[in-house]
Amino acid sequence: MSQKLDEFRKYLEKLNYYRRACTLMSWDMYTATPKLGYQDMADALTWFSTEEFTLSTSEELYGMLASLTEPEEFDALDEVWKYTVRFMKKDLDEKRRVPKDFYAAFVAEQSASMKVWEEAKGASDYSLFAPHLRKMIDMTVQMAAYTHPGKETYDVLLDQYEEGVTAQDIDKVFGELKEGLLPLVHQILSRPEAKCRFIGRNYDPDAQKRVQELLLNYIGFNMDAGTTSASEHPFTSGFGARDVRITNHYYADNPMSAVFSAIHEGGHGIFDQNTLAEAYGTPAAECSNMGIHESQSRFFENILGRRLSFWQPIYPKVQSLLLALADIPVEEFVQEACHVQASMIRTEADEVTYPLHVILRYEMEQAIFRDHVPVEQLPELWNQKMEKYLGIRPVNDAEGILQDMHWSDGSFGYFPSYLLGSIYDGMFLEAMESDLGDLDDILCRGDIAVITHWLNEKIHRNGGMEKPKDILKRVCGKDLTAQPLLDYFRKKYLFDSSSIGS
Ligand code: ZN
Repeated sequence: MSQKLDEFRKYLEKLNYYRRACTLMSWDMYTATPKLGYQDMADALTWFSTEEFTLSTSEELYGMLASLTEPEEFDALDEVWKYTVRFMKKDLDEKRRVPKDFYAAFVAEQSASMKVWEEAKGASDYSLFAPHLRKMIDMTVQMAAYTHPGKETYDVLLDQYEEGVTAQDIDKVFGELKEGLLPLVHQILSRPEAKCRFIGRNYDPDAQKRVQELLLNYIGFNMDAGTTSASEHPFTSGFGARDVRITNHYYADNPMSAVFSAIHEGGHGIFDQNTLAEAYGTPAAECSNMGIHESQSRFFENILGRRLSFWQPIYPKVQSLLLALADIPVEEFVQEACHVQASMIRTEADEVTYPLHVILRYEMEQAIFRDHVPVEQLPELWNQKMEKYLGIRPVNDAEGILQDMHWSDGSFGYFPSYLLGSIYDGMFLEAMESDLGDLDDILCRGDIAVITHWLNEKIHRNGGMEKPKDILKRVCGKDLTAQPLLDYFRKKYLFDSSSIGS
């Protein structure tokens, strides 16, 4: 190892110690810190993250990265270090183009805007939030002009979350999906609904925790390299492959939320546990593409978890833990997990209507950044789209445009990555079945480990270093397309309803 690389490696190690402290404090704040201790912990976190920011933007680091990108140094690096140096240099180049004053003003406006959004949502009063939204939009445009001069703002935003994916790609693939999905959703929604018998009964949270353990084990989450806790909203966090942390939230009258969150977060966790071992502690072991990461949680939750054959080998064990399910056959349980319904809130939507919630948000972001629609007109535009796509109209802004926090801190361009995750899943499913054979056959045999192993090898191992489009080419042999996802929906909800228990 060259002396320059060794110095850089030590610097990165120091940076990681600060990051570890920040991650641990934030994990603690969500899962364990008592109310009266919260502010002290928040102060400590602010101190550590400011130190971490200073270290990660220092002249010293920039000098190291600049000399490691010189051809004689760079050519001698292995793939992991090449990726790490290129990734960190690009990130730092962008940050250095932002004037310090502007950056400070941006961060200050982010926290002001988030706070007002919370109040506005509580009061269901969009007019409180509108001036902050206007400001966040303007500052986001300005920020993109600093970091990527001469590039289309919205493409810059998309690229932050899904490298190499442009608005042109999204227009095409979301357009394709919308066209196929709208008639399908209307057809499904026009069917008579079966009433669920088991929601509203009593489910002991401790028993739900044991079900979570059972499920995590079943799908291949390694409990020696992972831990679980409870929080208001489920999330995954951690420190690389050897320490992955998952949270969940347990509702005493409905086990479905915790069950499917466990599988979803477990999918994120399995990804993190199976990244390239040699890349530990570098960005090459972290997947920074949100759509790719989300594709893995959704593959486990929806493609596998909302399917009769997934449950057949383990449902009796679930019933022995959740006694209120004793009289509910597995078919009825899975039918509820696949229940399609028009609903207002994105995070509660089923897998078939979910894409329409994201397409709506993408179109809103296009209205903002491409068509420059004034913020005052956005709530009405939102409501019209809800009515057009799902046939329901929000009665207030809290269940309409104010429901998600993303725009309040300027995370424009994030929403499409959720849906890209599902679109990738359609493609991965097609590739997997052509490699391994019918998924239901594998699951019925209790061979889910074969599926997890395929994902480990094909996606998790190198998923941190590859661009999404390159992963699709390598794994599926084709470019981004929504057709496989549409085929999956049609097969499951129109032609072959036996896979969902009805
Ligand atoms: Zn997720």
